[in-house]
Amino acid sequence: MLKELINEFYSSKEKDKEKVAFYISDAGKCPRAVWFSLKNYPKKPITARVMRIFEHGDYTHMRIMGALFSLGLVKAVEIQIPDNEFIHGRADAIITLDNEPAILEIKSINSFKFKNTKPEKDHVLQLQLYLHYFKLKKGVLIYENKDNQELKEYVIHYDEKLVNELLTGFKGIKKHADENKPPIIPEDLEEWRCNYCVYLDSCKKIEDERGK
Ligand code: SF4
Repeated sequence: MLKELINEFYSSKEKDKEKVAFYISDAGKCPRAVWFSLKNYPKKPITARVMRIFEHGDYTHMRIMGALFSLGLVKAVEIQIPDNEFIHGRADAIITLDNEPAILEIKSINSFKFKNTKPEKDHVLQLQLYLHYFKLKKGVLIYENKDNQELKEYVIHYDEKLVNELLTGFKGIKKHADENKPPIIPEDLEEWRCNYCVYLDSCKKIEDERGK
């Protein structure tokens, strides 16, 4: 009974690997960068320093989750989003908040970003997708300042319109991937995204060819 269902789950995951898939973390990113990723373009390698930053983020998760477990607020951790058309992802946790289930996302950020009075756009978009796929109405973004371990939190409510816009955006990128045409660069794309982009060289090449 359960054995068959579990086997089926793993077989479908294996089939999924062959499909074109987006990840929750693609929400908010430059559409052309997401397109490069779908098309398996070569990336600038991640440096050891950046790997250590990621690892530091993992420790932050473990510490905060440990505290929430001790408080008896955690219902589930590291949960894959239910099978769907084309998006994959894993939520940090589902917790109980005011007697209701809520998605929890934990992020560690620097002091400069910590001073902002609003959550980061990409984080809100990611959380919205989790709310959509888990069919929950509320989520919490916890930020830890990686320089002094101060905490800050934002409660985010499900916004159906925003999610529909996001899913339409993903469908547009998928269409570009199927047609093998890179999407145009959005006019309002923030400059910092290009500064940190792992596909910068490929992107410049496309722009140079277009300019000829
Ligand atoms: S370099 Fe800039 S425009 Fe090009 S893919 Fe990267 S983020 Fe997008």
